[in-house]
Amino acid sequence: MTSITVPAIYGPVRSWRFGQSLGIDLLGAVSTCSLHCRYCQLGTIEQLTCDRAEFVPTQQVQTELQQFAAASDAIDVVTLSGSGEPTLASNLAPVIAIARAQLHRPVVVLTNGTLLGDRAVRQDLAAADIVAVKIDAVTAGQWQALNRPVAGLNLDQVLAGIMTFREQFAGQFTIQTMVTEPWSKLDVERYKAVIRALMPDEVQLNTPLRPRPLTHQLDARGNHDGPADPHWRQPRSVSAEVLTALGHQLQADLPLPVRHRYEATPLSAC
Ligand code: SF4
Repeated sequence: MTSITVPAIYGPVRSWRFGQSLGIDLLGAVSTCSLHCRYCQLGTIEQLTCDRAEFVPTQQVQTELQQFAAASDAIDVVTLSGSGEPTLASNLAPVIAIARAQLHRPVVVLTNGTLLGDRAVRQDLAAADIVAVKIDAVTAGQWQALNRPVAGLNLDQVLAGIMTFREQFAGQFTIQTMVTEPWSKLDVERYKAVIRALMPDEVQLNTPLRPRPLTHQLDARGNHDGPADPHWRQPRSVSAEVLTALGHQLQADLPLPVRHRYEATPLSAC
């Protein structure tokens, strides 16, 4: 683990999904995740792991949050995201409680869902007001190609963990999906089957619109606009027409709201 101390709080940044979002990064200086998504705004993930740890001290977060308490009217939500997968932080639950107590705003956690097979992770995450779970792929081949999980993770087990969390969670539950190429009819049907089983409060469709950075950009957490990695074959973005058509296809059969990235201006990364 790193001994470098970096600010845990960043922003507020404008989120197309949640409005003005004050970010809390519980991973810190070293980008840390259980996936290594091809489009990740963090660049190359520096630490690939499924092991939980306290990467940023809870006391540091509490101290940094104090300066935002007086200005919380300008913040819509507090979002745990940042330099990797927030459920890897073993102090997730106390930080959620502290953020809510200090800022009196809903607390959002953006998660890739890979740890939700673990009862302790589900219990910690249940303290959030809003949980947005990433599901980009519903077949093992697509998942391996796009999300590139840590060895040993299994998509069926991950989806089962997400389902168990969904059944237990009393807050707002959304699915966020990054679309990098037009889907076949079979892709759409498979995805709908998963969504139908989960019945989230909302589906949010996104597509990669920003360049993948050369290196982990701490100063750009939430809104990367820095130099792109010239050697990286960026996953394709899909057009507004493709994303809109997919949204309509999903909404025709699923009785739940489907929003997509191109509906939001100005564009934001998270
Ligand atoms: S889950 Fe999020 S943080 Fe992890 S590699 Fe994918 S995009 Fe990056």
